[in-house]
Amino acid sequence: MYRYVTNRTLKNRAGEEKGRIKALVPTDSETAQIDYVCPECGFSEHKEQPWQRPFSVKCSKCSLDIKIPKLKDEIKKDKLRARKEAAAS
Ligand SMILES: [Zn+2]
Repeated sequence: MYRYVTNRTLKNRAGEEKGRIKALVPTDSETAQIDYVCPECGFSEHKEQPWQRPFSVKCSKCSLDIKIPKLKDEIKKDKLRARKEAAAS
């Protein structure tokens, strides 16, 4: 069993979905198991590191700080965008 599972696409600075991050935290563990593809340099790696919020992983190649966007914030952003589009039409 896992107490935290996420599998997300990551955008680079140009807003393109070039990377992804998968993180698993077993219920009886404080260690997150991470697989990521860096959205900036394309480097991919498996990593294990202590689980803490807010969570971020450093790309081993270009040192980009890869953050897992909070689902709530993304939903909020989508709602805002939808509202703006509705207002514009
Ligand atoms: Zn990188």
